[in-house]
Order: sequence, then C-alpha cells, then structure tokens
Amino acid sequence: MDYDFAIIGGGSAGYAAARTASAEGLRTVVIEGGREVGGLCILRGCMPTKTMIESANRFLTLRRAGEFGLHAGAISANPAAILARKRRIIGEFADYRRQQLEDRRFDFVRARATFADAHTLRLDWPGEPPRTLSAARILVATGSTVQTPPVPGLATCGALTSDDVLERETIPASLIVLGAGPVALEFAHYFAALGTTVTIIQRGPQLLTGTDPDIAAALESALRERGLAIHTGTQILALERTAAGVRVTFTQNGATLTVEAADVLNALGRRPDLDGLALAAAGVEAPRGRIQTNAHQQTSQPHIFAAGDCCGPYEVVHIAIQQGEIAARNAARQQRADPPPLESIDYRLNLFAVFTEPQVASVGLTEAGARAAGRAFRTATYPFNDHGKSIAMGETHGLVKLLADPATGEILGGSVVGPHASDLIHEIVVAMAFRATAAQLATIPHYHPTLSEIWTYPAEELAVPSGT
Ligand SMILES: Cc1cc2nc3c(=O)[nH]c(=O)nc-3n(C[C@H](O)[C@H](O)[C@H](O)COP(=O)(O)OP(=O)(O)OC[C@H]3O[C@@H](n4cnc5c(N)ncnc54)[C@H](O)[C@@H]3O)c2cc1C
Repeated sequence: MDYDFAIIGGGSAGYAAARTASAEGLRTVVIEGGREVGGLCILRGCMPTKTMIESANRFLTLRRAGEFGLHAGAISANPAAILARKRRIIGEFADYRRQQLEDRRFDFVRARATFADAHTLRLDWPGEPPRTLSAARILVATGSTVQTPPVPGLATCGALTSDDVLERETIPASLIVLGAGPVALEFAHYFAALGTTVTIIQRGPQLLTGTDPDIAAALESALRERGLAIHTGTQILALERTAAGVRVTFTQNGATLTVEAADVLNALGRRPDLDGLALAAAGVEAPRGRIQTNAHQQTSQPHIFAAGDCCGPYEVVHIAIQQGEIAARNAARQQRADPPPLESIDYRLNLFAVFTEPQVASVGLTEAGARAAGRAFRTATYPFNDHGKSIAMGETHGLVKLLADPATGEILGGSVVGPHASDLIHEIVVAMAFRATAAQLATIPHYHPTLSEIWTYPAEELAVPSGT
C-alpha cells in the first residue's frame, strides 16, 4: 500500500482528519480536486458570508445613529468595496489553509479522486496523465454542492446560488429568497440591511425548520419589523423570467400568489457532493445520495470512513472537524489493531447558529427533539425586552430559553434569538458539557449589566422544583 490513510477532499473535515492522522503516525495523503484550495467554509461558506454580514450589521447600526443621540451624516453602502474586503480576508484565510496543507506533515496532491476498488484511487488532474494510489484506509470528505429541486423554471430562470451572490458587486432593488434555512436567512438579512426589498418564500410552516416554534416566531416578527416579506407554508409552482426580473408563483393557504423581483436566490439546500467518486466500485453505500456512516464514521466498508457534508447529518463546520478527527483516530486504532471499541461521535451538544439580525442559536434538545426522544422536560424563557443590558443596547428583540430535566434539573438544551446569540449560546454549551443543573447555572456569578446574565432568569425559574 502507498499510504496508511488517504483522504479525499481538503476542506474542513479533510484537513482536520489529515492533521490528526499524521499526529497519530499514519502515512497520510490528502487529495484535493477543487479549482481552489480552502474548502467551502473558507472559500464560499462561513467566512465570506460572515465577512459580508459584518458590513451589513455596521450599516444597520449606522442607520440607527439618531436613536443613540449620534449624527452619522449621509451614509451609503458600496457593495464593490464590501466584496473587495471579503476577497482580501478570504484570500488570507485560503493562503493560510494552503500553507497548512503543504507543510509536509502529510502529502498533499491536487487531483480529482475516483474509486477504482476498495483500496485504490484513480487520480485525474488536467494536463497530467491519470495515475493511481493505494491506501489501507480511506476517508471520503468531499463536501456538498448546491441542490436544485425539480421546480418548473428553477434551473432555467437564472436563479442565483450562494456562490453567485458572494461574487455580486451590485445590490438588487428586490430579491426573492427561496427557503428559510441558515443560508437563506443570512443572505435575506444581508441584502435587506443594504436596502434590497426582500421576500422569503418557505415551504415549511415556520422559518428554520427544526427550531422551536417560539424561537422561529420571534425571528420572524423581528425580520417582518425590519420590512422583510415572509411567506411560510407555501408550495412553489413555477419560476419564470420577466422583463423586470423573475416571477415566482406559489400557493399559500389554498390561494395562488405571485411575487416578482429583480433577482431570485435558490437557497433550497445542498446535497452531498459524490459526483464522479464511483463509490459503488468500493462497495460504499450511499442511499438517497448521502453516504451512510455509523457512530465511528465508518461507511458500509469498515476501512472506508466519511466525514463532513458528504455524510451529515449536520452540515456545519465544527461537526465536519469533529467527524474528521474521529475518523482519523479510528483509522489509527484499526491500524494498530487496538482492542475495541472505536471512538464514537456524540451529538448531545448539537449546536448551531444563524447570523441574521437578530441572531439565532441553539444547543442540545429542542422541545420537539425532547418529545421525539421521549424525554421529560421543563422549559423557561426570558425576553430581551425586559433585560437591562439589552434595553441599554437598544437590542430588545427575542428571548432566551432553557430546557431542563424535571427530576435532576440538568440542562438539556438552550436557544437564543436576540443580540449576540451566536456567542451567548456558548455559556449553555459549557454548562451542558459539564452536565450542569439549572440551579448551578443560576448561582454561578454573572457580571452586571451583561447580556450573559439573562440566562440566570430562566435558570432560576427551573431551579425551583416543579409543583412548588
Ligand atoms: C453560504 C454558506 C454559509 C455557511 N455558513 C456556515 C457557518 O456560519 N457555520 C458553519 O458551521 N457552517 C456553515 N456552512 C456550512 C459549512 O461551510 C460546511 O458544513 C463545511 O464547510 C463542510 O466541510 P467539508 O469538509 O465537509 O466540505 P468542504 O469544505 O466542501 O470540502 C470538500 C472538499 O472536497 C473536494 N472534493 C470534492 N470531490 C472531490 C474528489 N472527487 N476528489 C478530490 N477532491 C474532491 C472539494 O474541492 C472540497 O475542497 C455554510 C455553508 C454555506 C454554503
């Protein structure tokens, strides 16, 4: 065998696995087939979006200057300059990742990989003759790609994808956003903040499918107050180009409606990127287009692992990294023939954040998740419009919410919609990591006045045994 461990894909999951595998002493190679090196998070995901959203957030703040007794003068947004800043920052991140991949802890090969059999990969790169390499163990970490569902007109009406939007140097007068997941809502927030008239069309009954309805409703009301139009519970019938842009026809509550805008963004989700991998040649199963893994990140072939967006179930970076690291450590255990068990992934601290305004974040169980898991729970909430620091900041939308075990008081989950939610949630992540109870959280000192001290109110409520 040429290598102990071959990794297909040099994104977040692939790089984390390579770093871990080389530290474990495995002879490792990373094969990266993209035009650019860096992976989705750096090139077209988390980092470019957050860089651009930072401009939108500051623009919103400047527009509220008068409310704080300030005069900001005439302000305007320069989308070309926003993108120039993004390109500079992303260029630096990508350069750094390239250095990390090329610093010789493991081999790094630019090629598109295809399975020839369960231990052999065929490598193709333009201008170079195809070659093969063999490995005792392989990790598939090929990420995801934009999905275009079979809606009439969607593929032909010139709908933008998140990739397109990240390179657009103009701000459309109006934009229809299809979908209401994190990517859809972050772009809806970005463009609305910069002055675009935004309409969100969502199939499900609420924004952010999977979050608790009270959290989604708080976000929806804040976005509506900012002027975004939101249609939930819809079925999109067709998209067509018009002289003015794009028209979307959809049904809602039995009525057929149309909305027209200069542009439409397809943010209806992504699918695992398994194109051209020839997984069947290696005997790796991918039912419904997604690689199936067990808790050790093994596929249907025990020596072939998968990590990140290509297998899910949560398409976020810290999970991709965690899965990649676990796959690498398990590959090393197999190589050393360590006695079982292999390391397992644990999604108890399942965490996500959405960088809208206000932000949304959640960790652990939601109410629906607790019910589905058959777990008894108590819940308590507290609104930001009754909290000193958020009132002083003028950031009064939203609430925090805790779920706790009624018998032990252990915190089972937390959610925030409100200011700095993506940072605030980490207090609950840490509390849950140490299996803290609501009573313990309530008595841990919190500086006054801070946003963080808002957690003590639902914690105090849950600290009191139920029925007292
Ligand atoms: C707009 C947007 C915003 C996002 N924001 C966030 C956020 O704020 N926070 C968050 O946690 N997540 C966010 N995500 C999701 C996050 O970016 C992904 O979950 C994460 O980057 C996935 O990492 P990965 O390693 O699985 O895939 P990738 O980083 O996509 O890496 C896969 C790599 O495999 C390579 N490849 C594919 N096929 C082959 C092949 N056959 N041979 C060789 N190489 C191959 C690709 O070129 C690519 O470099 C966002 C996503 C999008 C689209």
